[in-house]
Amino acid sequence: MKPTLDYVVAKFNEYNALCFEGRLPLPRFQISQARTFMGKVSYKRTRSFWGRCHYGDFVFRISNRRDLPEVEVEDTILHEMIHLDIMSSQQRDSSAHGRLFREKMQDINRRFGRHITVSHRLTAADQEKDTERRRHLVCVSLLNNGRWGVTLAAHTRLYELWNRMDRVPEIVSHSWYLSTDPFFNRFPRSCTAKVYHITKEELDRHLKDAKPLVRKGHAIQISCNSWYVE
Ligand SMILES: [Zn+2]
Repeated sequence: MKPTLDYVVAKFNEYNALCFEGRLPLPRFQISQARTFMGKVSYKRTRSFWGRCHYGDFVFRISNRRDLPEVEVEDTILHEMIHLDIMSSQQRDSSAHGRLFREKMQDINRRFGRHITVSHRLTAADQEKDTERRRHLVCVSLLNNGRWGVTLAAHTRLYELWNRMDRVPEIVSHSWYLSTDPFFNRFPRSCTAKVYHITKEELDRHLKDAKPLVRKGHAIQISCNSWYVE
C-alpha cells in the first residue's frame, strides 16, 4: 500500500491512544515523495532564557514513494511516533536510536506483537533498483583522515552549501560536480555540510561522466548556458 495523509493521521490517533496513552502532541502531518527515508520527524529547537533546549513545532512525514506491505507502513509510523514521544517529552537519548528509543521500541514490540526496527532506511537492494537519471549537484571531498566523502546539495541551496563546504575544518580539499549517475540517487540532498563516506573506487566509477561546476563571483555555472545565481 501507499499511505495517504488520512491513513497516517488515523493510524497516528489509533496508536497514540493504544501504545502511548494519548500523550503525544498532534504534529503537522505530511506525505513525502522522498526516496531516502520512509519516515521522519522534524522539529524546531529553541533555547529558553535559562539556556535549556526545547523541542517543538513537530512535522511528521511518511514517504509514499514505495508500495509496501501495510505492516511495514504501520511499523514505520510507530517508529516515528517513538521519536516524537522522546522529543516532545523533552528527553535526550544517547544517540539517534539510543537506549531510550530501544527500550520503548522493545516494549511496544513485546506488548503489541509489532516488529519495529531501529533502521527503516531503504535497503541496499532498493537503492540498486533506483536507476532513474536525475541531475545531482555533488561535492566530493577529501577528509583529513584520508577518507573520501560526498555531499549532495538541494538545488535551491547550492550557493549556500558551496559557502558552507569551504568552512568545514575536516575537509582538506573539495570540488563540485554535476552528475546524472543514478548511484547518487541514494544520498539525501541537503543544505547542511553532511559528508557521506565513500570509497575512492566508487567515486572514480560514478564520476566518470560528471561535469565540474565552476563558480565565478556570485554565479555558479552548471553547463554552458545554465547558471545558479545567488
Ligand atoms: Zn528513526
